[in-house]
Amino acid sequence: MLTDQLFDTFGRRHDYLRISLTDACNLRCVYCMPNEKMLVTPSAALMQADEIENIASVFAALGVKKIRLTGGEPLLRRDTEEIMLRLSKLPVELTISTNAVLADKYIETFKKANIRSVNVSLDTLNPEEFSAITKRGDFEKILDNIYLLLSQDFKVKVNMVVMKGINEHAIFDFINWTKDFPLDVRFIEFMPFAGNAWLPEKVFSYAEMLNLIGSNYEFLKLEDSLNDTSKKYKIKGYAGTFGFITTITEPFCGTCNRLRLTADGKMKNCLLSSAETDLLSALRSGKDIKPLILSCLKSKKLERGGRFDFDSNISSSAAENRSMIKIGG
Ligand code: SAM
Ligand code: SF4
Repeated sequence: MLTDQLFDTFGRRHDYLRISLTDACNLRCVYCMPNEKMLVTPSAALMQADEIENIASVFAALGVKKIRLTGGEPLLRRDTEEIMLRLSKLPVELTISTNAVLADKYIETFKKANIRSVNVSLDTLNPEEFSAITKRGDFEKILDNIYLLLSQDFKVKVNMVVMKGINEHAIFDFINWTKDFPLDVRFIEFMPFAGNAWLPEKVFSYAEMLNLIGSNYEFLKLEDSLNDTSKKYKIKGYAGTFGFITTITEPFCGTCNRLRLTADGKMKNCLLSSAETDLLSALRSGKDIKPLILSCLKSKKLERGGRFDFDSNISSSAAENRSMIKIGG
């Protein structure tokens, strides 16, 4: 029996779980992968396919209605197909975030697992800039795979992390791309995590993005749904839309419905909080994880993990959190 039990102390209902499958990746995005050599978690310490299904089914029974697979790069795991097929049996909408380098290999699995919406990271449409940002050369493959997904009627959202002085000029290329293709592009304010050399002056803010876009285009505001993290817009007559994820300058904590599970089985009640609850160890020692999930949720803070006095000490607070690649964005 499904019940809605996932309320925090501020009355927010949580029905969306993001599960990281791995902290390994085939790209090295500068804003995500720490500079220093990162040790990938050994596979025995990761949740196994049956454990992921087990934990996810407890969340579903408590009221989770949507699960997003993420990472690291979720398509790198050898048992990703098994995991997707197991989770597809739960009464949830299943989605995935990927860099799309391997998406062509998984198109049929996506269909079998009823995954109809795919989020793809891409921060520039210029191959040289792509190599500088990701330290890898898979640009053409990613582009081909985005077109492949579109041609097979997947809903494709493209996530671009905007970093001042690095790629803000590419915003125009992404908007032009929405003219003929039904893509939802989301411009994400650069967020601080351990090892990503974040500085406030590297954030290209929502206001700056709107200004820049307004200098070239007339755009329309679209209606956002209650739990949307993105503020959505479009250019009249264009096939696609664009939006902004404004975690830094206009956080959307008031309507947050998200919970996270790291690849090593730790629950996080907020992306920006360093607090973790070890569900995997509890599961492995035969304990009921339901009370742990509920008490983790009850400790959720009102805003941004309760950690940031955003204008002063943000970088040092971020350093106490995991790197993004180890959380799962
Ligand atoms: N590898 C997959 C991908 O790149 O889509 C899934 C994992 S990735 C960590 C998930 C999302 O986090 C991506 O959209 C990425 O752009 C975003 N992300 C990573 N580091 C970020 C940062 N410092 N600020 C904002 N978004 C970030
Ligand atoms: Fe890998 Fe995604 Fe992080 Fe880029 S953003 S390093 S693709 S996990």
